[in-house]
Amino acid sequence: MFEKILIANRGEIALRIQRACREMGIKTVVVHSEADSEAKYVRLADESVCIGPAPSSQSYLNIPAIISAAEVTDAEAIHPGYGFLSENADFADKVERSGFVFIGPRADTIRLMGDKVSAKNAMKDADVPCVPGSEGALPEDPKEVVRIARGVGYPVIIKAAGGGGGRGMRVVHTEAALLNAVSLTRSEAQAAFSNPMVYLEKYLENPRHVEIQVLADEFRSAVYLGERDCSMQRRHQKVIEEAPAPGIAPRIIAKIGERCADACRKIGYRGAGTFEFLYENEEFFFIEMNTRVQVEHPVTELTTGIDIVQEQIRIAAGEKLRFRQRDIEKRGHAIECRINAEDPFTFAPSPGRITSWHPPGGPGIRVDSHVYHGYFVPPHYDSMIGKVIAYGETREQAMARMHVALSEMVVEGIKTNIPLHQQLLADENFRRGGTSIHYLEQRLAKIKKPGG
Ligand code: ADP
Repeated sequence: MFEKILIANRGEIALRIQRACREMGIKTVVVHSEADSEAKYVRLADESVCIGPAPSSQSYLNIPAIISAAEVTDAEAIHPGYGFLSENADFADKVERSGFVFIGPRADTIRLMGDKVSAKNAMKDADVPCVPGSEGALPEDPKEVVRIARGVGYPVIIKAAGGGGGRGMRVVHTEAALLNAVSLTRSEAQAAFSNPMVYLEKYLENPRHVEIQVLADEFRSAVYLGERDCSMQRRHQKVIEEAPAPGIAPRIIAKIGERCADACRKIGYRGAGTFEFLYENEEFFFIEMNTRVQVEHPVTELTTGIDIVQEQIRIAAGEKLRFRQRDIEKRGHAIECRINAEDPFTFAPSPGRITSWHPPGGPGIRVDSHVYHGYFVPPHYDSMIGKVIAYGETREQAMARMHVALSEMVVEGIKTNIPLHQQLLADENFRRGGTSIHYLEQRLAKIKKPGG
């Protein structure tokens, strides 16, 4: 096992990874920007290195600075967390070529899955069902594009091969709007991802977002840890996640889970990963794979008892998976609410000093957050300041515990989206379970603003 790991991230996930390491007796090195020098995990680290000023382009995305930090501190492995460099194949390459272990898949796997066109092709080859659409990238010839869209049938969605974070997508309802949408998405994709390649998919009108968590080792053993329902989204960004997905029969999950584990064996996948699907009429359609730990991993940890971050570290250290599929037992229900520093109804970011912080507790409540009383939420990064996760024997119990937890939670000095979560927990359709990816946006259009 490693003696020392460098954590190349910030915020709650930096603390989460650090906790996993400390529990395993592994020393931690934390790299941070000038804006994060006061963070809790920086204080708790065995060593810390400031790698640059606040803007992430000069710090958390600064590959030479991160690798130098690993060199001067003699770290053996680098955990990239999520976001930032976690799905950057060049970073994984450079880490390994500098003699460190990258805690994640091989660089060529990240490259394969990072391009959504090649990812879909690989999944088709591995018999994972995909959303119907263009065979690979769209050609230049407009007549061909029109022909492909007609074949798929409207509405369609144009997506950037290099896209991520909910960006680089455009829905098209009519042929008249098609070519303009393709060229707009192409230029956006070029500007945002330095890759103008776009592809086309059938736009599913009422699907749920259901994803499968996998773990795979160096030796082509792979297991799935069940599913997560992440349909509660705004602007393609997840807001609430839960496991298991309400109302989907375990045999349907087992079937798609097996396909995902098989695909891991076929492509020689290593580490933790997530296969994201749209789910409609009892059918799964692959949209993309995330080759890293995800924000919503705790709901799977609570329902399986497996520490996903620790397993990532064990796999990276060359250990064999410690369980087979039949050893994995799921129990109960878990729900996660992402707590963001933002106005709950306009969604305007709300950075600043937290003057009062009382996180909730009690049976079945887990809070993953780096925040403390007096913490300053910097304006430079993602607005998520933590996650509240509630576990119960049943979905009803998990929801009841979440409701109590949010009512206990006090965050002052900044605005948060806790009031939005409270409204959603009381929402009849959400309580019933199984709402689609469009539900939240439709619901938001109707939510009454307090006093408004
Ligand atoms: P990103 O990498 O930016 O997260 P994804 O391909 O995972 O992009 O898609 C993000 C979200 O966009 C999905 O969860 C879903 O809400 C919506 N979406 C993507 N593809 C489709 C599709 N073919 N039909 C309907 N919605 C889609």
